[in-house]
Amino acid sequence: MLMSPVEFFRNLPKKECTKCGKHMQEQAESYLMDCDQCNSKKEE
Ligand SMILES: [Zn+2]
Repeated sequence: MLMSPVEFFRNLPKKECTKCGKHMQEQAESYLMDCDQCNSKKEE
């Protein structure tokens, strides 16, 4: 029985921001380890 793509991604560990530990929403294109908030703060 094949696993549906939804089930596959559901089984992946949740991504957490390395800075604040906040759970991030999975983004297929995202290679960043920090959430958007921490990334935007980094530039200041
Ligand atoms: Zn963060």
